[in-house]
Amino acid sequence: MYQVLDPATEEVVTEVEPLDLGQVDAAVARAVAAGPAWRALAPADRARLLRRFAAVVDAHVDELAELEVRGAGHTVGNARWEAGNVRDVLDYYAAAPERLFGRQIPVAGGMDVTFREPLGVVGIIVPWNFPMPIAGWGFAPALAAGNTVVLKPAELTPLTALRLAELGREAGLPPGVFTVLPGKGSVVGERLVTHEQVRKIVFTGSTEVGTHILRQAADQVKRVTLELGGKSANIVFADADVERAAANAPAGVFDNAGQDCCARSRILVERTVYDRFLELLEPAVTGLRVGSPAKPDVDMGPLISAGQRDRVRGFVEGGADAGGAPVDVAFRGSAPAGPGFWYPPTVVLPRSTADPVWREEVFGPVVAVLPFDDEAEAVALANDTEYGLSGSIWTRDLGRALRVARGVESGNLSVNSNASVRYSTPFGGFKRSGLGRELGPDALDAFTEVKNVFFADD
Ligand code: NAD
Repeated sequence: MYQVLDPATEEVVTEVEPLDLGQVDAAVARAVAAGPAWRALAPADRARLLRRFAAVVDAHVDELAELEVRGAGHTVGNARWEAGNVRDVLDYYAAAPERLFGRQIPVAGGMDVTFREPLGVVGIIVPWNFPMPIAGWGFAPALAAGNTVVLKPAELTPLTALRLAELGREAGLPPGVFTVLPGKGSVVGERLVTHEQVRKIVFTGSTEVGTHILRQAADQVKRVTLELGGKSANIVFADADVERAAANAPAGVFDNAGQDCCARSRILVERTVYDRFLELLEPAVTGLRVGSPAKPDVDMGPLISAGQRDRVRGFVEGGADAGGAPVDVAFRGSAPAGPGFWYPPTVVLPRSTADPVWREEVFGPVVAVLPFDDEAEAVALANDTEYGLSGSIWTRDLGRALRVARGVESGNLSVNSNASVRYSTPFGGFKRSGLGRELGPDALDAFTEVKNVFFADD
């Protein structure tokens, strides 16, 4: 057994039994066995079951949210949105079974049609930062396409995934169709990747583990979708509504205490408005309410663990710039004292783009701000990273918004907004931020194989 801690109090929430290899293999065998009946179900019946699953999740939004507040330290407002997102993603992909169209292609001597066949068992490996949405983005389209699913939550945050599996059963999903397997990445996760009968891995997590999984998957030519790290840029031009850009910047990076792969953790500001932007940013940061995530008026809760807090602190207090000098903290917000894995929202001013705090994914409430001189430099700085997941562009010039949006090498950009994710639009990364896309109208492509069949007419 291992303990799940409340990150805001360090109290033990519950204990969870990690599965061993034998239990994982048995679960995969049950998922394989459940496959034929699940894929043979009439499309309307599969759709109906997914809608019922969505309705059961909807009836448990508050309970799921409470579990995420206690087990992951998410603010209650965020946690309710996240549970609602699972419901919405299920509802969205419930439309898919009856719309999983193939094509009829003109050929000589007969008829040619394509089918979209399910892959079989899909393994989904989830990180601790958004346990519910990231699980749902995988399992909802995977199930809709006729696959069965085995899902491994992160060690630190297994509770909502385990509850979602129970809710799936309550909604009428047959046994073996959707199973949650808590345990270690090195045991359960590795086994899902190496298991011959798991036909696809959807992995969200660090670029390091994702790269290892991609290598391992090559042995079986296993299909993979990877959603990895980020170091996204928030680019503010002088012609923008600078007040609005500054007021919105904290939410763009400090949401979920900065433990967000889409966090805009690099702010680039046109030099002519740089001082003004920082003046406006300061009250927006110091005014953030950091505290117990169960309180409805709190903006930011704790980090997930002592280890994560120490890692984040290492970039600032323990850190140095590329020249070895201490990191320059411009200003910071508050954080509670006492138990809990707290770290205040912090704004730093790097001295060069070689500084670790500018280059590496901190995955905590730390943002670095740099000035730039023109559009070309802004795009070059934004692209000067191995990552390419997200980003924002603030300008009133439509042409510039278009040019910069096309120039930044990133999968998800917003203009005059920090929104990254909608279940109806594609999500994923360029470069080392990932491989493939989730969500949106094309997600079913990642969970099906195209089969071409020719019928001779003689
Ligand atoms: P992590 O890579 O340490 O772990 C992610 C998951 O993989 C966990 O469930 C873990 O148990 C499992 N795992 C670990 N080793 C494994 C192995 N050898 N084989 C199979 N599975 C293994 O990441 P984390 O610390 O939980 O999450 C933080 C990272 O996730 C950050 O880098 C963040 O940017 C990234 N992330 C990306 C997205 C995205 O959509 N691009 C979303 C959220 C988080």
